[in-house]
Amino acid sequence: MAQHTVASRTDFQPTGRALPFVPEQPRDRSEHVTPLTAAQRGVEWMNRWGCPGFCVVPHGEPLALECHSTAPVETSLRAAEIDCSGYSENGEGLPWLTAQVIVHNEQDDPRGRETQVWLGYGVHLAEISPAQARQALDSLRAFTTRLAAVVGLAEQVAADDRTDEHHPQARG
Ligand SMILES: [Zn+2]
Repeated sequence: MAQHTVASRTDFQPTGRALPFVPEQPRDRSEHVTPLTAAQRGVEWMNRWGCPGFCVVPHGEPLALECHSTAPVETSLRAAEIDCSGYSENGEGLPWLTAQVIVHNEQDDPRGRETQVWLGYGVHLAEISPAQARQALDSLRAFTTRLAAVVGLAEQVAADDRTDEHHPQARG
């Protein structure tokens, strides 16, 4: 089933651990561990868990995903850096945008095998089909052109902004 669902990212991180959303720029480098791929773990591991070679899920560990996943790609920009609502602070430094390939192939699953893209945006997570992800990519590409126009205009207009008194440039 390739249904579109949106779940809270925090659902997947009850302990605040960085799995499976590995931070690109961890605040504390000593916490950063590059996850092993299934291919690096070897054939025995791949056969035991039905892992594609790209999978970085630590199967068998508490809180590990019950599916297979690539290491996510993500923006270096954190959601909380640009979200004035403060809501993103609940996500504890989640990236603004993330994307990863997910494969469900649990044995005895009547659905068989299903590939998804998980597209994260702040605390939100879209679990979508590859076709839907293609739509999202096309939409994002078109949006970046319009965003560039908005940013360009804003920069021009901002040249005349007052910078004194009660007009802080940024909050938080
Ligand atoms: Zn796996």
